[in-house]
Amino acid sequence: MDDVVDHLRGRGDPLPRGSVYGIVEDLVHSGLVQLAHAGPGAALYELFRHEHSHFVCQRCQSIFDVPTEAVSLPPMEFAASVSRVQLVIQGVCQDCLKANLG
Ligand SMILES: [Zn+2]
Repeated sequence: MDDVVDHLRGRGDPLPRGSVYGIVEDLVHSGLVQLAHAGPGAALYELFRHEHSHFVCQRCQSIFDVPTEAVSLPPMEFAASVSRVQLVIQGVCQDCLKANLG
């Protein structure tokens, strides 16, 4: 969110923070932008391109996109249909593993 405010300011189009929040909320409701659930920290907004989830490194907080099509769901007798799947997968990324070994 701060990135958006900074970007607009840098472009010479400063907007009050409250306006930016309102616009982003509208985008989220319209489905063009999704609020990514990536654990604690600043809320992460991203353009809605395709359904995907996130791997979050617990050491460096890097976030990697994970295609959710590859995830198989458990049986859910209670669900009539599934419209979206979003997972947060936590672990340690390759860079942190190498840094740890080196
Ligand atoms: Zn890492």
